Amino acid sequence: MAARVLVSDDLSPEAVRILQAAGLEVDVKVGLAPDQLEQIIGEYDGLAVRSATKVTGQLLEKARRLKVIGRAGVGVDNVDLAAATRRGVVVMNTPGGSSVTVAELALAMILGLSRHVAAATASVKAGKWEKKRFQGHELAGRTLGVVGIGNIGSILVARALAMGMRVVAYDPFLSPEAAAKLGATLVELETLWREADVVSVHVPLTDKTRNLVDATALAKMKKGALLVNCARGGIVDDRALADALRAGRLAGAALDVFEQEPPPAGHPLLALDNVILTPHIGASTEEAQSAVAVAVAEQLADYLVRGVVRNAVNAPGLPPEVMEQLAPYLPLAEKLGALAAQIAPEGPTEATIEVAGELAAVPIRPLAARALVGMLGRFLDTPVNDVSAPAIARERGIAVREIRSAEPHDYASLITVTVRGAGGEGQVAGTVYGKREARLVRVNAFRVEAVPEGHVLLCENDDAPGVVGNLGTTLAAAGVNIARISLSRLDDRSRAFAFLNVDSPPSAELLDKVRRLPHVRSARAIVL
Ligand code: NAD
Repeated sequence: MAARVLVSDDLSPEAVRILQAAGLEVDVKVGLAPDQLEQIIGEYDGLAVRSATKVTGQLLEKARRLKVIGRAGVGVDNVDLAAATRRGVVVMNTPGGSSVTVAELALAMILGLSRHVAAATASVKAGKWEKKRFQGHELAGRTLGVVGIGNIGSILVARALAMGMRVVAYDPFLSPEAAAKLGATLVELETLWREADVVSVHVPLTDKTRNLVDATALAKMKKGALLVNCARGGIVDDRALADALRAGRLAGAALDVFEQEPPPAGHPLLALDNVILTPHIGASTEEAQSAVAVAVAEQLADYLVRGVVRNAVNAPGLPPEVMEQLAPYLPLAEKLGALAAQIAPEGPTEATIEVAGELAAVPIRPLAARALVGMLGRFLDTPVNDVSAPAIARERGIAVREIRSAEPHDYASLITVTVRGAGGEGQVAGTVYGKREARLVRVNAFRVEAVPEGHVLLCENDDAPGVVGNLGTTLAAAGVNIARISLSRLDDRSRAFAFLNVDSPPSAELLDKVRRLPHVRSARAIVL
């Protein structure tokens, strides 16, 4: 009997044809109420959705035959991933399907701003003929600064180069070699602000990128620069941007995304001439909408007919006996990956995951994959999971090495993650006590015993009296509570180290204060 696929959101006739041509029986039933869907879902092996169908745990309980869910698009918020994974249902998405489309909007905005297209149109429509006012700039020979070179940023780089622009880029998770292959020069963020005539941001919205373009960054940009945000609202501080435009610091800005969508009446950007504003239409082209529908149909057909998994966002199940041994170590591996990535210099080129002791007897690939999830997951918009992480690392020019060594040492099992780049390396190690308690036991040269979770302040200092007291007082004055603290020193006492779990994130101002304390050499805040 042919496998059956239900298409429950609007895909495209072409996508349906692809499924049928693969020998699948296809029903298209768009707009079903949840109870109607529950009644029929038990008859299908595959389900194709966009974002409208809510694939809940309750629905999945009724989906006795379901093997795969395909989401045409990137976000999978409408699918209960945990429930799908528990039931062995593979969930696939179509990352990158709209990247060209979004990059093209960014390019349209850059061109539109450089030649005042929107403002000049409004002027002509108002019966004016203001040739002088709308003198613009060529892009050829100017410098584009791309913040975030992922799927979209890298496509924009290629197009900007074709237009004769020079491209500088900032992306802490791309190696200089990978950037150079694209034709961009990797620089520090400060250099990018200083050198770019046009800045385009293509990063996900994270703790690190919220308000990335704030009043301070805007003040560092070239006078007369242009700014484009087709990524996410909240990356640019809209109000600071309006101030910079009014003050003539920036010559123009174009936004497809806003802190609040739609921007409320009276929003300062709405009153300015030198801005282009669009209603979050970055992915809205016929081609992108059809490309993701075709991609999801091809992926579903490949899986149901040939068993080939592509772009799965949930992990395939491991054999239960391996899973049982690995399970306590998987969250540890992820934390170690996240920590190593945050303490390593920018531009990693190599990640090594070493597993020693008893655990080295089982397949360690899932641990390595999970460490990569920790490394990359916080920095990418593309969903990073055990399945996709190794491929994403490769694409970004990061070589992954897995080492198993059964050598006896102080712990039953030890995982060491090392992230290397041109500027040095970050190395951390951890173990699990009593099958449940994850412990960090090393950070670079320092032996510690720390709990790798939540907000953490890392501090390197001279091995001198008073440092911990000063730290406690300074944090207390800023209302930051210390939950745990682990201290360490080198054997020769040349340096010491403190790992502090804190209840709230230390602000940039507080970090500055900590860095200025006597004997403190460096301080940084990270999230695990
Ligand atoms: P991606 O995950 O492929 O790339 C994101 C890049 O940002 C990565 O290379 C990552 O290393 C880098 N990055 C992370 N943190 C950074 C930081 N602090 N500084 C500099 N670089 C950093 O994502 P993508 O598919 O290229 O999407 C980029 C953005 O576009 C996302 O915010 C996404 O949500 C948005 N988007 C918008 C629309 C729209 O309709 N306007 C449509 C699709 C995607």
